Amino acid sequence: MESIKIGKQKVIIHRYNTVIVGAGAAGINAAVHLYEFFTQKGIKDAQDRIAVVTAGLSLGASRMSGSDKQTYYKMGTSPDVPDSAEAFAKTLTAAGCCHGDLALAEAIGSLREFYHLVQAGVPFPHDSTGSFLGYKTDNDPFERATSAGPKTSKMMCECLQRQVVHYGIKIYDQQEVAHLVTTGKRIIGVVTIDKKSLKAKNFGINIFQCENLILAAGGPGELYKTSVYPKNQTGIHGLAFQAGLAAENLTESQFGLASTKFRWNVSGSYMQVIPRIFSSDANGGDEREFLADFFPTMSKMATNIFLKGYQWPFDPQRIENCQSSLIDILVFNETQKGRRVFMDFRKNPYAVSLPGVGNSSMKPFAIEDLEAEALGYLRKTGALQKTPIERLACMNQPAIDIYKEHGIDLWKEPLEIAVCAQHNNGGFAVNHWWESNIPRTFVVGEMAGTHGVKRPGGAALNSGQVGSLRAAEFIANVYGADMPSKNSATKEIKTQVGWLIAGYESFMESKGLKAKDVIAEIQQRMTASAGHIREINDARKALSGAIDLMSRIKQEGIAIRSTKDIPSAVRAEHLALASVAYLKAIVSLLAQGSGSRGSHLVLSPDGVHIAGTELRFKLENEELRNSILRVKYAPKLPDLFHCENVTPRPIPAQRKAFEPAWKDYRLGKIYE
Ligand SMILES: Cc1cc2nc3c(=O)[nH]c(=O)nc-3n(C[C@H](O)[C@H](O)[C@H](O)COP(=O)(O)OP(=O)(O)OC[C@H]3O[C@@H](n4cnc5c(N)ncnc54)[C@H](O)[C@@H]3O)c2cc1C
Repeated sequence: MESIKIGKQKVIIHRYNTVIVGAGAAGINAAVHLYEFFTQKGIKDAQDRIAVVTAGLSLGASRMSGSDKQTYYKMGTSPDVPDSAEAFAKTLTAAGCCHGDLALAEAIGSLREFYHLVQAGVPFPHDSTGSFLGYKTDNDPFERATSAGPKTSKMMCECLQRQVVHYGIKIYDQQEVAHLVTTGKRIIGVVTIDKKSLKAKNFGINIFQCENLILAAGGPGELYKTSVYPKNQTGIHGLAFQAGLAAENLTESQFGLASTKFRWNVSGSYMQVIPRIFSSDANGGDEREFLADFFPTMSKMATNIFLKGYQWPFDPQRIENCQSSLIDILVFNETQKGRRVFMDFRKNPYAVSLPGVGNSSMKPFAIEDLEAEALGYLRKTGALQKTPIERLACMNQPAIDIYKEHGIDLWKEPLEIAVCAQHNNGGFAVNHWWESNIPRTFVVGEMAGTHGVKRPGGAALNSGQVGSLRAAEFIANVYGADMPSKNSATKEIKTQVGWLIAGYESFMESKGLKAKDVIAEIQQRMTASAGHIREINDARKALSGAIDLMSRIKQEGIAIRSTKDIPSAVRAEHLALASVAYLKAIVSLLAQGSGSRGSHLVLSPDGVHIAGTELRFKLENEELRNSILRVKYAPKLPDLFHCENVTPRPIPAQRKAFEPAWKDYRLGKIYE
């Protein structure tokens, strides 16, 4: 570690072979594997060549998010149900816009990484013969899902971090990424603001110079106002765009029902126990059984509440004929009217709450009236008790405990919910070694755009593990363990960090925008126009609002009163650029006549009417399943981003005989 002076600032320089940005499940796993690959190659001080850099070790979706039983998706491990990697890849690509080579690599790598987690100590349940137990998750035709409980991804992080610590790999905490240093061909360093060392005149600037970079900074959760992403999960999408990375499928975010006081998904058992769902006025009065106005019978309504458990993400293809995603629409409708929506586990669903409102022909709730799929599952799990909370206690006690840990007692109070942004299937484009369009920069975890229009629940965690394994393998075998030389790229570093410092100095003089207002404006706009309900004219207006915000930031700056405000100003600036990218992608896709797909519905005056509402939606344009929307930063264009369509790569079908394949492996041809 050394320091240099740039402008008036003392800047600390660190040098590593590989810098990993993000300490979630994907980033931490990359560190573990890279250390192991380097060590296997005879590198004695592998731990000194790798660094993990994060804005907060306790932050991020992996460590802070979950659900009733947070899901890990892998190839089937049932003793009697056969599965294959090709079948798995077909599930991942089924709804289109997914590269087949990534899907196959995720399929093949899924068991290796699953057992890697088992070895690391994640308590995935198995039976007395050692068979790991599975269940059915969203968009999953088999029972490939498994779980270690509500906090699976937190456990993954903790187990993998134990290994990172054991190996002696350094984790730099409290480092807000502020810039990626580029040479035009490569990214050669990460500039951070060390939040611990911000002082009166010290901007806390650190530079992590590297030969290889693994970006694992997660999804852009802070883009949305109504969100179940953990607070402060910002990501670094804007910075990655500025550095030249291309992104794919940004339009394919997932939205679904989640609790808002404590941000948590209410999927799986929370829905399968069929709680009462009601709305109230802003003060909690005037309770209404609003779902009953739209479903023809209690059996249909209760069965669809049950199905929401494993049809969790909002899916516009599950609205017609009173299917489970009608519930998301109706919840959203209520919240749009300024009402609040709750799940009440103390009571079964009611039919009618007000005279003349609702479906007076509905019978009272009775478990035996449920449709076969719901009734069969509740019988199988023994969850036939009188009330939802008793059924939940029988089916999944940890799902109750997690709320208790956060001050919410489901035995005593209802749980407020909303349709929230949860995950982005899209992200930065990678090849089948998770290398981006910039050589030696890899993107893994949620920041990588590896999923298509739909993904099975749990596939995000699997993709993060497999991607980080593959990136580490490629770095160790192709780029090697060399350290950056002391004199390399000094000019670029000094120039680019000089710009940053000048920018912050001007922000300190600025009486312009406040970071908090910039972020609030972005979140408001993204939730209103880039959420689960979209309309082309509205999206166009939102895009021009987002571009206008960028130019206001350029002209007026973001006011910084003290150096402590620098991290939020940094976040506001790059989130603003990220929001332009997302909106540009949305407008571009809608302009191609895309229609409703994945987890968003597209409004259209001549579309299908949702009975009882004013909404009409356009059906999916299936032709676009074979076309992925790719977005790249182009600052000279009026909309700041260039969009193009690329054709998804197919699932590789070539299977070589053992000897030639072995030769390819020995000669390293597999990395070509
Ligand atoms: C409520 C909820 C439930 C979910 N349930 C499931 C599920 O059941 N199954 C499944 O597969 N997926 C699920 N997901 C998605 C999954 O949890 C995430 O996609 C995954 O954990 C992301 O892991 P990651 O390592 O890529 O990023 P994260 O875990 O988000 O980690 C990001 C890291 O980057 C750091 N970072 C972020 N921004 C910056 C910055 N500006 N500067 C420096 N560092 C930064 C963070 O501090 C953190 O260390 C769920 C998500 C949510 C929100």
